[in-house]
Amino acid sequence: MAIMKPEVEIYDTTLRDGSQGEGINFSVADKLRIAEKIDAFGIHYIEGGWPGSNPKDMEFFAEAKRRKFARARLAAFSMTRRKGIAVEKDDLMRQLLAAETPVVTIVGKTWLLHVTEVLRAKPDENLAMIGDTIRYLHDHGKTVFYDAEHSFDGFKDNPDYALATWQAAEKAGAQCIVLCDTNGGCLPNDIKRITAFAKAKLNSRVGIHTHNDIGLGVANALAAVEVGATQVQGTINGYGERTGNCNLTSVIPNLHLKMGLKCLPEKSIPKLKDLSHFVDEIANIRPDPRQPWVGATAFAHKGGMHVHAVDRVVNSYEHIKPELVGNHRRVLVSDMSGRTNVLLKAQELGFKITNDTPELKSILARVKELEHGGYEFEAAEGSLALLIRHRLKHQEPPFTVETYHVSMRRDVPLRRGEEGKSICEATVKVRVGDEMAHTVAEGDGPVNALDSALRSALIRFFPKLKSVTLTDYKVRIIEASTGDNGDSASGTAAKTRVLIESTNGKDEWGTVGVSDNIIEASLQALVDSMEYALMKR
Ligand SMILES: [Zn+2]
Repeated sequence: MAIMKPEVEIYDTTLRDGSQGEGINFSVADKLRIAEKIDAFGIHYIEGGWPGSNPKDMEFFAEAKRRKFARARLAAFSMTRRKGIAVEKDDLMRQLLAAETPVVTIVGKTWLLHVTEVLRAKPDENLAMIGDTIRYLHDHGKTVFYDAEHSFDGFKDNPDYALATWQAAEKAGAQCIVLCDTNGGCLPNDIKRITAFAKAKLNSRVGIHTHNDIGLGVANALAAVEVGATQVQGTINGYGERTGNCNLTSVIPNLHLKMGLKCLPEKSIPKLKDLSHFVDEIANIRPDPRQPWVGATAFAHKGGMHVHAVDRVVNSYEHIKPELVGNHRRVLVSDMSGRTNVLLKAQELGFKITNDTPELKSILARVKELEHGGYEFEAAEGSLALLIRHRLKHQEPPFTVETYHVSMRRDVPLRRGEEGKSICEATVKVRVGDEMAHTVAEGDGPVNALDSALRSALIRFFPKLKSVTLTDYKVRIIEASTGDNGDSASGTAAKTRVLIESTNGKDEWGTVGVSDNIIEASLQALVDSMEYALMKR
């Protein structure tokens, strides 16, 4: 089957530009999980990071090299060679090539002000830096994209020089000249005018990279597409510095459903909300309910009317059917939407399950009940898979935790900034069939001690658990309950959700636990993690 070349390609920079956002801090394991999710969604390019800027990005590329991505091509980011140094002598190039990605994206200067005042280079030297760098990478067999920083501000200041920088990149072999509104302050009309100009003067493809400083990140990207830009760079949920990057979670449905530009697999679009929430969960960010398209209130209507009337009126008050992007209407208690989401997810996890599966109803009811209690399954596919499996197979879990005990003590005075003086100990009693194992372990913290105790109890029965390690542990306070006497409860009385990420060296998975008690929530997530590891072949 011939695959048609997409009219617009999507370039995701959540892992690089997005990670510049305040409060965003991805571990290597986080980055790998997000990359896999973005790939599964069908996005064309994933920018994994800037090799040489930090050890984490190097580690990510070393790991990513060993993965197979279905569709996405991996890109590494860097800048033009430094001034006064030969490109092959520049350390950044060596590190960039070591990432071994098929695509490299190079950022360089367009605006003379930046060339002379920030870089303190001659205009011609900047052109040479752009040309040398791109030629060098092109000669190394890379697909090179050129991020032309401050394209619009630079063009307004000196159009001839801006054009000269883009042409230098094109001549050296850049496949796409990506015009960047780096400061995010341009209006759509300027973006359109300047992109159309670039498009007319260049033979290579033109791309667009915008920021949302005046709330126009998405509008500006679409304006550029209207006049012929064929690559859109952005981030999931609009993560990024200051007010963020162009939000792909809005760009994608706008291209597909409003402009009729089918750039991603049709079947991915109903998974948009899932993708958005997954990335929020991994970033440990509360999903914004007012986010366009995918937010919880995006299709919420105040009810109170007769059901038939509501149905009729609601349709006329919605710009699309919410299901098209995996969202749902919040006025009718619509069983169908939840059903579709759970079905999609279950099929994704490899269960042979359809609308006619008799257990579907009870699975759905249980998921709803748990979600009501504060669970989130978007990034906890391990826990969801176990839930579905228990209901489908009517099987007993492979082990049960009969009892546990955690203790903590400190024998020296508490001083700020002084760690490691507390002693944590956990005992766990586990039942496997008719056998019992009773173990004790110490740890750096109560959860760590509990994990060690549980693990050593289980490894006796299930040696394959030896390869399972925890890669991340996230805690979110989800709901401050109010006490009976009307006191608003303190933060410590709130419910806690724990999300654990685990790996067996080959795959990663997430599991979740919710409780008033953080240790209890952690134990649930730990137990699910081990059980899921056993369930996987
Ligand atoms: Zn940017």
